Amino acid sequence: MQADILFPINAEAFTYLIPEDLESKIKPGVRVLAPFKRAKKVGIVQRIGVRGQGSRGKGQGLEGIILKPIEAVLDEEPLVPENLLKLIQWVGQYYMSTSGLALKNAVPSAFFTGKKAGKSRIVYDEEVKEAKPLELTVEQSSALSEINSTDKGVFLLHGVTGSGKTEIYIRAIKALPPDKEAIVLVPEIAITAQMIDRFRVNFGDSVVFYHSGLSIGERITQWRKMREGEVKVVIGVRSAVFAPFNDLGLIVIDEEQEASYKQFEGLRYNARDTALARAQLEGIKIVLGSATPSMEAYYNAKNGKIRYLELTQRIEHRPLPGVDIIDMTKEEKQSFSLSNKLLDALKENLGNDHQSLIMLNRRGYSPFFMCTDCGHTYKCPACSITLIYHKDTNTLNCHYCGSYLNPQSMCPTCKGTRIKHLGTGTQRAEEEIRSLMPGLAFKRMDKDTTQKKLSHYRIIKQMEEKKIDVLLGTQMVAKGHDFPDVTLSAVISADIALNMPDFRSAERALQLFTQLAGRAGRGEVPGRAYIQTYEPEHYVFDYVRGHDYKGFYEKEIELRKELSYPPFGRMLRIIFSFKTKDSARQIVNVISNRIKKSNLPLSQTGKGGIEILGPSPAPIEKIKNLWRWHIILKGKNAKALRQTAAVILEKIRDVKEVKIDIDVDPINML
Ligand code: ADP
Ligand code: ZN
Repeated sequence: MQADILFPINAEAFTYLIPEDLESKIKPGVRVLAPFKRAKKVGIVQRIGVRGQGSRGKGQGLEGIILKPIEAVLDEEPLVPENLLKLIQWVGQYYMSTSGLALKNAVPSAFFTGKKAGKSRIVYDEEVKEAKPLELTVEQSSALSEINSTDKGVFLLHGVTGSGKTEIYIRAIKALPPDKEAIVLVPEIAITAQMIDRFRVNFGDSVVFYHSGLSIGERITQWRKMREGEVKVVIGVRSAVFAPFNDLGLIVIDEEQEASYKQFEGLRYNARDTALARAQLEGIKIVLGSATPSMEAYYNAKNGKIRYLELTQRIEHRPLPGVDIIDMTKEEKQSFSLSNKLLDALKENLGNDHQSLIMLNRRGYSPFFMCTDCGHTYKCPACSITLIYHKDTNTLNCHYCGSYLNPQSMCPTCKGTRIKHLGTGTQRAEEEIRSLMPGLAFKRMDKDTTQKKLSHYRIIKQMEEKKIDVLLGTQMVAKGHDFPDVTLSAVISADIALNMPDFRSAERALQLFTQLAGRAGRGEVPGRAYIQTYEPEHYVFDYVRGHDYKGFYEKEIELRKELSYPPFGRMLRIIFSFKTKDSARQIVNVISNRIKKSNLPLSQTGKGGIEILGPSPAPIEKIKNLWRWHIILKGKNAKALRQTAAVILEKIRDVKEVKIDIDVDPINML
């Protein structure tokens, strides 16, 4: 007998011989120790076969080739259940990556490295409060009974902010047969904080929390709990889609439109789409929840491909917040970040003893550290990106590669000494708000203030306990939170979202502003939202102001149709990275010629309706010292796109000195 063994490396499975004495112990999903190159490696049994038959992996295992034997079996029961093995394979194929890389993303690395797991210390609020009995609204009940009426299928739960979607997720899980399990995906760790409390109230210790920020020991503990059926529900970000449950009944994707479900490096998978595939593979139901669905999801719902459930009202018929668009070209201001209008509103809100939430989607102090004599700004030496000044560390940081420079008092170009900070980030806004509103209980929440474990959770708790008057942060403050005393929400620089060079920028902006506005007025006192912008006539604001998602959809879908963008077409991006600018040009030439010779359509709609754009320089030309070019494939059919990409890759297989990344269904073209 022989077995295909998958290792957590960027490769497909390798075939090994099963020694007779191990035959009874080897089954799909167990870990084994096997010789690999000159060392030994831990891998997972993917499948078992008879010698010489049906094996995969680079010509190994064929008649006449001597297979190396597996050395030891490490598990009695499979570490990875069979359904998850299938999903891992699906991910490898769909994203034109490998099953090995998918395995690496799916299973905690410590299971392969044998690194000793330290003690698990997961601490949340000790006391779990009693669940307050809620009577569902009419809309909630009817959505829930639709979900409960079936055990398969895809639902879009479209509910305005504060309409009680989470309550529906909880009840739908409770309504599952007792042995069924559930996965709940949320887009940000920051949101899990409140979610986990609400779930713990309802499910006690049978719910776990799972994300990549946990320590090695914690991940292993959680994995084992799920695997051994000790817990029934997992809440997590992205990688929780690979939860090792084998009797799943339901998957919930909260805020399904979020870009953070997509991984931007290595295996570029989207956890929402992976979850949809998992639901289909396992024949179960899946609920996509959102106040502002992705164009794709809403389009599918309109066309009857997925089932549409709607919550049009906030709980208790509370009004949605009024939205003020503040025209920054006209407003007076005494600080860089805040208009007087917003400042006055903040002061008034504080005077009424209510809380405020402010989003400024850029961390650091200022995005331009500029010489006023010659206009010189600092670029990252490794990336084609302007550096962001961080005042706390007095450094100029690159948000792409993490490197930094120490600013000089003299301009390196003209030796001028008049340096100016232009633009604003969370640190500057904090400084200004603190000085304009002394005595304020203020907190900043961005990547820089939440490096420590559970720091999100602590900030959220302080907010709940009303120990914070004003919480300011990047987009992590905008989403999901339910603070009844927040009656004011604000966006400081809406233009950051509006000006992204991406066909989805209007959609993203609408979603983000609606989310942020939706944090206000969730309790008894109605809320108000303020959005500061230099482009108040942008069409997005018409729909944000009116909370009119559907109106926005109707406008946006026409634009997408005209240009065959998703949901009317699919996309696939091939990214090439080179060590030098010159070699990039030369090698790109070779690549272009090969593609031309292969009779694939170039820069035009050709065979099978596939359009190949490029190769052209990527909008961010250089990241981490690599020069980047890309090809974008557009077409109706995802499979045809992958086939075309495969042909291109085959044609350039022997081209050297280029790193190639594939992004299937890209959501960022930078
Ligand atoms: P969404 O996820 O749609 O923004 P939530 O699920 O956070 O909304 O619900 C908003 C608030 O309303 C929460 O505090 C929740 O506990 C409460 N809530 C939900 N359903 C009901 C109900 N049927 N009756 C009373 N309060 C409810
Ligand atoms: Zn950089």
